[in-house]
Amino acid sequence: MKIAVLAGDGIGPEIIAQAVRVLTVLQRDGLKFELEPGLLGGCAVDATGEPFPEVTRKLVTEADAVLLGAVGGPRYDMLPRQQRPEQGLLSIRKTLGLFANLRPAILYPELAGASTLKPEVVSGLDIMIVRELTGDIYFGGPRGIEQRDGQRVGFNTMIYSEAEIRRIAHVAFQIARKRSHKLCSVDKMNVLECTQLWRDVVTETSKEYPDVILSHMLVDNAAMQLIRDPKQFDVIVTGNMFGDILSDEASMLTGSIGMLPSASLDENNKGLYEPIHGSAPDIADKNMANPLATILSVAMMLRYTFNQEDSAQRIENSVKKVLSQNYRTSDIGSSGMNMVGTVE
Ligand code: ATP
Ligand code: MG
Repeated sequence: MKIAVLAGDGIGPEIIAQAVRVLTVLQRDGLKFELEPGLLGGCAVDATGEPFPEVTRKLVTEADAVLLGAVGGPRYDMLPRQQRPEQGLLSIRKTLGLFANLRPAILYPELAGASTLKPEVVSGLDIMIVRELTGDIYFGGPRGIEQRDGQRVGFNTMIYSEAEIRRIAHVAFQIARKRSHKLCSVDKMNVLECTQLWRDVVTETSKEYPDVILSHMLVDNAAMQLIRDPKQFDVIVTGNMFGDILSDEASMLTGSIGMLPSASLDENNKGLYEPIHGSAPDIADKNMANPLATILSVAMMLRYTFNQEDSAQRIENSVKKVLSQNYRTSDIGSSGMNMVGTVE
C-alpha cells in the first residue's frame, strides 16, 4: 500500500512529521506501506505556481490513501481564486471523488474542562458526523450574482440526485452498524424539496439495514439538540452544507480543535485523512502545534482504508495514555499539566 504524504503549509510540516513518526513505529512492527511525499497548497504554489500541480495529481491518484497536514496562510490571500491553496484542497477532493466526509467529535475525559458545555452534558461524548462532500448547494446548478430589475440578485441551487444520496446513506448505515446501530439523518424537508428527496432516499436505504434504528431531524432542531443534549446522537448523516455547519458546531463541544481528525472517502474506501484544523500560521515553526489530530487521522486511515483496526486502536489508546499522563500542548493545556511542544 502506498500513502501520499502532503504536509502543506503553516504547522502542516510539523504535525505531519509527528504522524510519520507514528507510522514508522507501525512499520517497524511489521505493517507494510510506502510513504511518498508531495506538494499541495501554498508550498506547491511557491514551487510550481499551482496549488495542485500535475505531479501531485498523479501521486494521489496512484496512492491508496493521502495524509494531509493543512494548507493556506496569509501569504497567499492576495492570489486569484484559482491559485489559492484552498483551491488545491477542493481539486484533490474532486479528482479523487471523495464524497464521504467523516468527522468524529470525541470528548476525551481528561479534556472535559475545555468544553464550553457543562461536564455532565458532554462527558463521554462520542459522535460521528457523516457529511456528503461533493454535492448540494456548493456545487449545484445555476449560480451567480445578476442584475434583475435594477438590483443585484444572488442565487445558488441545492441539488442532489438519488444516487448521490443513496451512496452517502450506505456509508452512514455501515458506520452505524459498527457503532451503536443508531443513525440520525438531518434535513430541512419542511421547506426544501431537495431535502424531501434526501429523507425519502435515506428511508428507502434503511430497508437494507433493519438492524440500524433510523431517525430524522430538521437541521434547525439538530443544531439546537447538539448543544442541549449532544449525547442523544451517535451517527449523524447529512448533506454538504448542513454537515459543514453541524460538524464545526459538534467539534467545539469537545473544546479542542487540535484533537479532531477527519476522513474523506471515495466509493472504494480510498481516502484523504487530515486534521479538522487549519494551517494555524500564528503558531507555525514555534514547536507549539498539537499533533494529535493528525496522529488520530492516521488511525482513521488504518481503520477505513487499510482495514487495520488493531493498529488504529493502538494509536488511539496511545493518545489516551499520553493525555492520562497529563502531557499537553498549549491549546489543551491548563495549570499543573506536563506542558510539551509538538516534538516531544
Ligand atoms: P483555516 O481557514 O485553514 O481553517 P483558520 O485560521 O480558520 O484556518 P486554524 O488554522 O484552524 O483556523 O486556527 C484557528 C486557531 O486554532 C488558531 O489560533 C490556531 O493557532 C489554533 N490551532 C489550530 N490548529 C492547532 C493545533 N494543531 N494546535 C494548536 N493550536 C491550533
Ligand atoms: Mg477555519
